[in-house]
Amino acid sequence: MQLYNSLSHKKEDFVPREAGKVSMYTCGPTVYHFAHIGNLRSYIMEDVLEKYLRFTGLDVKRVMNITDVGHLTSDGDTGDDKMLKGAKREHKTVMEIAKFYTDAFFADCAKLNIKTPDVVVPATSYIDEFIKVISSLIEKGYAYEAGGNIYFDTSKLKKYYVFGDFSQEDLEVGVREGVEEDGNKRNKADFVLWFTKSKFDDQELKWESPWGLGYPGWHIECSCISMKNLGEYLDLHCGGIDNAFPHHTNEIAQSEAYLGHEWCNYWFHVHHLNTNSGKMSKSSGEFLTVSLLEEKGYDPIVYRFFCLQSHYRKSLVFSWENLDNAKVSFDKLIARIAPLTAEPQGEIDEAEFGRLRGLFDEALGSDLNTAMGITVLYDVLRSKAGASTKLALIGELDKVLGLDLIKKAQEKSSASEAAPEEIPAEVLELVEQRKAARKEKDFALADQLRDKIAELGYEVKETRQGTEINKI
Ligand SMILES: [Zn+2]
Repeated sequence: MQLYNSLSHKKEDFVPREAGKVSMYTCGPTVYHFAHIGNLRSYIMEDVLEKYLRFTGLDVKRVMNITDVGHLTSDGDTGDDKMLKGAKREHKTVMEIAKFYTDAFFADCAKLNIKTPDVVVPATSYIDEFIKVISSLIEKGYAYEAGGNIYFDTSKLKKYYVFGDFSQEDLEVGVREGVEEDGNKRNKADFVLWFTKSKFDDQELKWESPWGLGYPGWHIECSCISMKNLGEYLDLHCGGIDNAFPHHTNEIAQSEAYLGHEWCNYWFHVHHLNTNSGKMSKSSGEFLTVSLLEEKGYDPIVYRFFCLQSHYRKSLVFSWENLDNAKVSFDKLIARIAPLTAEPQGEIDEAEFGRLRGLFDEALGSDLNTAMGITVLYDVLRSKAGASTKLALIGELDKVLGLDLIKKAQEKSSASEAAPEEIPAEVLELVEQRKAARKEKDFALADQLRDKIAELGYEVKETRQGTEINKI
């Protein structure tokens, strides 16, 4: 497939290092609060990417971390500790918060048909691994101790700003916006690998280390969890675009310094979900979660459909009106599939199946063009092939799209069978009168009533099961 690589700023042929196999890493959530639907847009698009790679026959191993320690409110090591902040807000321990929001995250993912990665690792379970890698970085001269903390020395690298989108000036603005500047850093871009001296005296989670009792910085966890589970070469690393700097930039710095060679070949970044007032975040405006969508009566899959209708490298504007438009299109699509599920099944037209599957493959293989992939669904519906071929194709395409198309179409089809058209009250009243007349053996009246019912378009019959009323 052709995939845009943030590292080279162009579309490239995606070629895994080992033929037929893909090692894929995804930055997981920081579990201090519910995920908002902007975060979930990234997970939806990454899920589609993983499923598409499998669709093309590749064997994917995907790993994700869960950040349950060490992530400060600014990605550049300043501000409050997110986990501690969550625990204080809810009067719980950090581990209780982590458990609760990890479960909530996977429950949201399940509702959006996002597959759980093959390996999921909470950062707190890998402390020994972080200490091992940090020790090695110190030995190799890439890290130093200052004021009790261990920092990565970015001046030791030939090139630190690997994604090229961020200038020194941007970074300095970022630092100025931070709560406070860390005077221990030798260079502004340096970042913390291990904290022992922190301003959070009440930090609950601390571990023994060669540098004293402390806890890891955020960035080191992804490098270690990836290398431990996927080896020293990684094919594909995913995340939201705001992770590119500093998080992914720091991951590359420390991984390549540790390994002594290039680490990951392809970087896939999903762009923002915006509201009309700007980038969506937990702190500004309405806190949009999957539960809120459900409370407002939306099926979460409609949100997935909404995301799939646009390209992952474009900012997407969320509004209730836009979501309503997606819902209308999705309902129409399901309504068109529904009659197919009731048709008698026949032979599959292999040629037509191959042709349309190929069109879909081409769409998704073109830098994951999901919007074009959805238009192929309409091509399937317009095809001259029979219902069985169409259904087989819809099922095949939905392995990647994850919209439960056939299940929802079947539900719609059986719901319409279960609710026959309502019989008018006038007819029911006449039927009752006819029953009474028959009981009185007044068959002449019963016949007259039957004729009246027929005039209203209904036929009444006595059967063993009782009185039957059918539309003529
Ligand atoms: Zn990460």
